[in-house]
Amino acid sequence: MASTSTTHHDEPPEEPTKEESALETARRQLQHAADHLNIDQNIVERLKHPKKVHEVTVPIERESGDVEVYTGYRAQHDSVRGPFKGGLRYHPDVTREECVGLGMWMTWKCAVMDIPFGGAKGGIAVNPKELTDDEKEQLTRRFTDELRAVIGPTKDIPAPDMGTDPQTMAWLMDAYSMQEGETIPGVVTGKPPIVGGSKGRDGAPGRSVAIITREVIDYYDKDIKETSVAIQGYGSVGSNAARLLDDWGANVVAVSDVNGGIYDPNGLDTHSIPSHHEQPEAVMGHEAPQTVSNDELLELNVDVVIPAAIGNVLSAENADEVVADIVVEGANGPTTTVASKIFAERGVPVIPDILANAGGVTVSYFEWLQDINRRSWSLERVNNELETEMLAAWEDVREEFEARDVTWRDAAYIVALSRIAEAHEARGLWP
Ligand code: GLU
Repeated sequence: MASTSTTHHDEPPEEPTKEESALETARRQLQHAADHLNIDQNIVERLKHPKKVHEVTVPIERESGDVEVYTGYRAQHDSVRGPFKGGLRYHPDVTREECVGLGMWMTWKCAVMDIPFGGAKGGIAVNPKELTDDEKEQLTRRFTDELRAVIGPTKDIPAPDMGTDPQTMAWLMDAYSMQEGETIPGVVTGKPPIVGGSKGRDGAPGRSVAIITREVIDYYDKDIKETSVAIQGYGSVGSNAARLLDDWGANVVAVSDVNGGIYDPNGLDTHSIPSHHEQPEAVMGHEAPQTVSNDELLELNVDVVIPAAIGNVLSAENADEVVADIVVEGANGPTTTVASKIFAERGVPVIPDILANAGGVTVSYFEWLQDINRRSWSLERVNNELETEMLAAWEDVREEFEARDVTWRDAAYIVALSRIAEAHEARGLWP
């Protein structure tokens, strides 16, 4: 690769002085992993920048008759290993920069799982709770149309993320297909199974969090039946992880949603607590001896804490107060750079998001294969293959963790980055 002449005035300082954005964190994590590897620094520089970022405006007519214009993005980070892949987020905090950072994480996530996709992320800066279902449908259809030229089953394949769900993906698939003149289920994953979605996709991110939590508990010589777990967030990731860990004998003592959490040191009956999908924001309505705030939940005296809601919840403010022996990242980017450093100094293992919650994109890959082959898999097959893929990735990361004196995050990045860098070396720079 020829030497690059990019200017790097947006480089973060060597040591984080303050809490950083998702993009700054993603870049720093990348450089940190690269420092452990003998790879061409030009490739690392390339990977600090997205291939393309699309910004569109999305007008819809509100029920009041007024037209509202929202801004949408699709950041396509890297596609050296396959089509861009990653979720679409509907959230008021969505920005161009955040999409780029989250898109980078998708590149590493697909590579650590060794699935043939690159990384992307997109979204609309909107509060979906303020929209009716009809308005959400209009928004999704128009957004899809604005992105039509740059997405597709072999180009870029969106999926659900915060604020979007299988219904959103069904609208996206329909809008795209209507314009293309044929049904193209492989343009998006996370659809309802009736229109080409995969069985088990909904529960997959939570299932992978549970599988990795089980493995890490075993790695540190603990018995799952004597392990207490606190989980922040009771959406798709949190509720599915909680219920599986509960089924496998762990003592799930605290769960929460946006309003706060419930705590029972003797263990909660996770199946009787409605998930966000079953009944939004119903956790606090469930009977329990104690209630806790979302901040307090992270500091409970438990063996494992799983932040499975939003980003940046473990920061310089509270990393020293976390009592748990192990942190498993269910959400994307729940631990800031400063908090990661504090945990490393304290010897608290933090199992990174790009491994722990990668079940979502892994079953997305299975869904894409099913769509392309026009053949659906049984739930049993999906769950078995997910288990196999998760254990293989866990072994790859564990090997690096043991071979080098690094954190679990660095080990996962080293696995991912080696694969991406090798692919870049093999393909070279065009022209
Ligand atoms: N949004 C999910 C994630 O962050 C899934 C992405 C996908 O399935 O493409 O991993």
